[in-house]
Amino acid sequence: MSLSADLEALVRSIPDYPKPGIMFRDVTTLFQDARGLKLSVDGLADAFKDQKFDLVAGIEARGFILGGALAHVLGLGFIAIRKKGKLPHITLSQEYALEYGVDSVEIHADACKPGQKVLLIDDLIATGGTAEAGIALIRRLGGVVAGAGFVIDLPALGGAQRIRDQDVRVETLLEFAGH
Ligand code: AMP
Repeated sequence: MSLSADLEALVRSIPDYPKPGIMFRDVTTLFQDARGLKLSVDGLADAFKDQKFDLVAGIEARGFILGGALAHVLGLGFIAIRKKGKLPHITLSQEYALEYGVDSVEIHADACKPGQKVLLIDDLIATGGTAEAGIALIRRLGGVVAGAGFVIDLPALGGAQRIRDQDVRVETLLEFAGH
């Protein structure tokens, strides 16, 4: 089996969660499988093996699981992009649009230094709004987002292209059609 087929078989799809019309791609089943977690982390490491980074940034919460493991594999430090109000020290905040209204993510003001190369990680990219906000935060600190990696891409929602349009290299391990 190919890597993408191996991974796809371990993702649980839940229709109409968290609301009607959404097909939720649940990675808890992927992460609880030892081989699935290893394939996910090693797959992302392999996708970026020709590049050097200074830090891995993970987006709360599933991006912490993947990003933390990937940082360990790459021998790098990890920085957290969190939901509003969770980080204890001085933060920068970035709003992004949801279907209805806005949300925001935050980063510690000293999370990276100007010029450091950051690899941004999350489990899934849909519209790209969350990743774009994460990229904006790292750039506001002077960091260089040298790559963005996701296990799952929903290409119909255009997020990966949206991030590539910002001159960020995007790598994903498997795609699901539709929303
Ligand atoms: P977006 O900002 O639209 O790219 O959404 C990406 C974020 O929302 C990621 O942190 C995902 O974990 C989560 N997400 C969005 N759509 C789904 C989905 N269909 N299944 C699971 N998680 C999703």
